[in-house]
Amino acid sequence: MKWLILSLLIIIFLTILSLSNSFIKIHKKVSFQFNFSNPYIELNLGIRKPKICEKRVWEINLSKNEIYFFENCRLKIIIPIAYQAPPGKWYQTPTGYFRVGIKKEKHISSLFPVYMNYAVQMYEDFFIHEVPYYLDGRRVDNNFTGGCIRLETEQAKKFFEMARAGDLIISYLDMDNIKVKDNFVFPIKKDQFYLRQRFNSPLRTSWHSLEDRKIDYIQHAGVDLAPDNEAKDLNVYNIYDGKIFKIVKNGENDHGLGNTVIIEHPDLKIYSLYGHLQSINYDLKEGNFIKKGKKIGIVGATGYGCNYWRVGEDGCDKKGKLDIHLHFEIKIKPVLESPIEARCFINGKYKNCYDYTPNNPELFGYYDPLKFLTK
Ligand SMILES: [Zn+2]
Repeated sequence: MKWLILSLLIIIFLTILSLSNSFIKIHKKVSFQFNFSNPYIELNLGIRKPKICEKRVWEINLSKNEIYFFENCRLKIIIPIAYQAPPGKWYQTPTGYFRVGIKKEKHISSLFPVYMNYAVQMYEDFFIHEVPYYLDGRRVDNNFTGGCIRLETEQAKKFFEMARAGDLIISYLDMDNIKVKDNFVFPIKKDQFYLRQRFNSPLRTSWHSLEDRKIDYIQHAGVDLAPDNEAKDLNVYNIYDGKIFKIVKNGENDHGLGNTVIIEHPDLKIYSLYGHLQSINYDLKEGNFIKKGKKIGIVGATGYGCNYWRVGEDGCDKKGKLDIHLHFEIKIKPVLESPIEARCFINGKYKNCYDYTPNNPELFGYYDPLKFLTK
């Protein structure tokens, strides 16, 4: 009897031991996945450097479909993006610098009868939210989009909890995977710059129409290429053999483009434009031949290259930091404005369009520089 009780006790003890062991295992697995203070994970995350060092920065990498959160310039978390609006349409997910705006945990869209829970405002009508679903619970199809970024529920919840009003958002594309066509030179070193405003990216200028939102937006006619924090080569290069057609100095009727060079490429029947230059190479003269790959100048922030581009009296937020970037265009005429006449509705008035067009810039004599230069 004594032995029986003893062996029963041993069996019970062993069972408890194995149960608690497997519990510890499961628990360990879970905590490994979610514990972002784990030194190994932190070490790995720490390798990625932020584009701009601020206390709290959210980077939206549209080429990698990932969101990075940096606190005091250290990467803390990576959130996968489930869906972004397709490029080419006016409502493509915007690129640029923004601030986290309003947050709505339970949100029914003002435009469509759908739930977009855990919605965080990125820019005007553009939000980051949970994959939307109809009032009857069906998931909304990807073809149906207003330009927002969608996250799976768990990720959306996490983002919603962590994002704070005023946090900096940088929405951009990497250029490390793009392949430049053999006969061209890219205007900057693409491994040291990022594409922080793409062709056609929408910019809101008025609040007129609820039915047709595109009336309220103008669309970027070039690409803005900004240097990484640690970029070493800040030169701007000529993309293709040509002739220097025009040199415009900062302030001389530059219409916000600052120091600008326009180069004619007769065999291609196009012109390339390089704006906001810090300085223009001293030996460039209008009318001279210029070889592809030749230095044009240094990337800068002249004209409206001031941080947080705003359509205002002078197009700038005067208190902003310098926004160093190359505004680069490919167009059919050697002019600063839109090659095909266009009127942009800005501050309640119709004006000539510079850098932006009222609709897809391809309709106004511009080419998408990325499509033009890459394979
Ligand atoms: Zn631009």
